[in-house]
Amino acid sequence: TTSAREVAVAGDTPYTIHIGPRLLDDGALLARSVRGRDAMLVSDAHVAPLYADRVTAALQAARPDLRIQRHVLPPGEAAKTLANFAEVTLALADARMRRDATLFALGGGVIGDLAGFAAACWMRGIDCVQLPTTLLAMVDSSVGGKTAVDLPQGKNLVGAFHPPRAVIADTAVLRTLPARELRAGLAEVVKYGALGDADFLDWLDDHADALLAMDDAALAEAIARSCAHKAAIVARDPFEHGERALLNLGHTFGHAIETEQGYGGLNHGEAVAVGMVLAAQLSEVLGLAPAADTVHLRDLLQRLGLPVDLPGGLDPDRLLAHMRLDKKAQADGLRFIVWDGVGRARVLAGVPEAAVLDV
Ligand code: NAD
Ligand code: ZN
Repeated sequence: TTSAREVAVAGDTPYTIHIGPRLLDDGALLARSVRGRDAMLVSDAHVAPLYADRVTAALQAARPDLRIQRHVLPPGEAAKTLANFAEVTLALADARMRRDATLFALGGGVIGDLAGFAAACWMRGIDCVQLPTTLLAMVDSSVGGKTAVDLPQGKNLVGAFHPPRAVIADTAVLRTLPARELRAGLAEVVKYGALGDADFLDWLDDHADALLAMDDAALAEAIARSCAHKAAIVARDPFEHGERALLNLGHTFGHAIETEQGYGGLNHGEAVAVGMVLAAQLSEVLGLAPAADTVHLRDLLQRLGLPVDLPGGLDPDRLLAHMRLDKKAQADGLRFIVWDGVGRARVLAGVPEAAVLDV
């Protein structure tokens, strides 16, 4: 269709991100990455009833000889555990999957991270095809090869870099996604414009309504441009030694809000939306960027139905304490992704705590 798009990801193991409506019914596309005669479809209990049969039928039609197993996990972040990771590897063992087997990760970032980690570890690494079903997974977690599970001590503490064999993002599945989850993904889309592409931010200004109405062409364009940004950054810094940190724009504030509020507070994308506005305000306080750019970002996020103000009742000193403990904090004091204006983000170390409290 006219709204189908492809993004190439360079690296030691290059792959393609396919984006467009109803791609999950494209058996030939799904089968293209399959090398052996075995496949395991990993999904969660929300997504599997909606889409797993369709994926299986399309794959089976293209490859009648393929043995397709299925493993369904409970939905949500609480399922991203070592125990569920172990369960997937045991299922791979029970099914006698070999080195040439293909694991399909059908779901949001939780399934993508956990199943991707299982693929990274089973037989020291088998092919993983990401079939992201949330906007966040399409524009962020399915691209770049980071996989992980959580521990009680913290998120994503055990994991591996394992780039997918392919990413197939069916934009039509976003119609069943709760509206709040769609908006959370849009926060990460805005992030790519804010950090490195002022033209994209202008495009988002013009297409905010089309995106909220889930226009297929607008979604495919927004996802493709987001993936192209992430892919370019990841290709230049695959193991997160430098530039990849820019992807954390808004996340230092955002994580502090998420940690402080816990379950029932803002979700990740919402917290990042507030965090980006705070990062823009911090840049203003530090004299780096004009106030007009903060207003621009804030207005766009607001139009997309995202929160832009720090929720009431949060203690700034407690938020600061969380930021001091942030995984990305270093010996040189507080580090933030700031900007010199829309599309020009950079890492700044040694940010004075007084400036953060001021914001
Ligand atoms: P998620 O996987 O929990 O999905 C959100 C909810 O939507 C779940 O309840 C899920 O069952 C449901 N759902 C998914 N697709 C649906 C659909 N099409 N229709 C109806 N319901 C659907 O959460 P998420 O926001 O996709 O991902 C969050 C995870 O991603 C976190 O664990 C985070 O650490 C990880 N992440 C990883 C990276 C990375 O680089 N690997 C980057 C960003 C985030
Ligand atoms: Zn994020």
